[in-house]
Amino acid sequence: MQNREKCDKLVVKDGYAVCPVCRRKTNQAIRPDTEAKNLQLWCRSCKAVHIVNIASGQCYVISRCR
Ligand SMILES: [Zn+2]
Repeated sequence: MQNREKCDKLVVKDGYAVCPVCRRKTNQAIRPDTEAKNLQLWCRSCKAVHIVNIASGQCYVISRCR
């Protein structure tokens, strides 16, 4: 049985991914047709790095690196 941590959904604001830690916009643009797998999302505000999957403009946080 798989018991992984639940995948948090990443908020997209004004076309940019919002950092789940500090809630500020990152400089990662998310288009409605953006597709990405295991994308490293870096927040320049709090220096957090998240691995995210993006499918059809929906972002899911896979894990947090630091
Ligand atoms: Zn942040």
